[in-house]
Amino acid sequence: MITFLSGGTGTPKLVRGFRKLYNDSDISVVVNTAEDMWVSGNHLSPDIDTVMYLFAGILNTDTWWGIEDDTTITNDFLNKMGENEFITVGDQDRAVHIARAAMLKRGLSLTESTKLICRELRVYANVLPMTDQEVTTFVTTPDTEMHFQEYWVKKKGRVEITGVKRRCKGESQNGGPCKDEPAATPEVIDAIESADSVIIGPSNPVTSISPILECSGVREALKKQFVIVMSPFIGDTPISGPAKALMEAWGLKPTSRGTYNLYKDFLDIFIQDTRDTDIIPGAVVLDTLMLDEKISIELAESVNALIKRE
Ligand code: GDP
Repeated sequence: MITFLSGGTGTPKLVRGFRKLYNDSDISVVVNTAEDMWVSGNHLSPDIDTVMYLFAGILNTDTWWGIEDDTTITNDFLNKMGENEFITVGDQDRAVHIARAAMLKRGLSLTESTKLICRELRVYANVLPMTDQEVTTFVTTPDTEMHFQEYWVKKKGRVEITGVKRRCKGESQNGGPCKDEPAATPEVIDAIESADSVIIGPSNPVTSISPILECSGVREALKKQFVIVMSPFIGDTPISGPAKALMEAWGLKPTSRGTYNLYKDFLDIFIQDTRDTDIIPGAVVLDTLMLDEKISIELAESVNALIKRE
């Protein structure tokens, strides 16, 4: 069994390759939920959705979000009604969000809801939300604070950011500063402890992986495991997404070295790209640019060869 910690783009690209080497039922993915939000009364969990759709074989792999060939009739009509949904949610994708919202409102946990949706989508991998508590990433700008999705999707990342905060559900609409660490679910800790190896794929260190590491017990469990980390940077540039600005706002270098420093207390193998000029001593250097499925499979084979088996 192999366990990944994942966001919604870089690691899923690597998981896509690993699916050719392992049965889905031997793969667990612990997924970031700090980008979740309620949209028009429905529950959007972007990273969980991407991972589930990948295993269900219905993911739009041009964008790495949403369902392939989905229509947007409801979204278009809602915007016509003046609802101004800034995230374009496809119709089938929305059906998943409606179903999940209904489950959560009935009192099911996010873990239970994910399990039920996976069953309906014929997903045999173990897809695990990092926590059942509501934790959300907010970015601070010189004037205000906003949900990460508002920054990245609505404002298209074109706002100066000065900080990144996690907020936990509370009295106010946006929740308050998290008083305690959110609790990792027992399923998450078990998936980390019982794996042959844990792989932290090339996901955004600030908004995808750190929220998982901030859940109680995760870092401790990783320290006892064999952990392989792949950098999401080539030089000082991420391959996609806002990782550069977010790393800088967090006071970290937006590079493989910055990523390494964040994980160095528990990692066993660090993988960085052949195009990186600053090579960390002991790092494994591979071509990590997954432009298509074939490259993902080849990369997965190279990473799989590094796994330590008892
Ligand atoms: P998000 O939830 O959509 O932000 O997705 P992730 O956090 O999972 O992934 C975003 C990160 O993936 C970005 O920092 C990218 O640099 C990285 N990334 C995307 N594609 C690739 C790739 O092919 N190779 C590597 N090494 N990193 C990638």
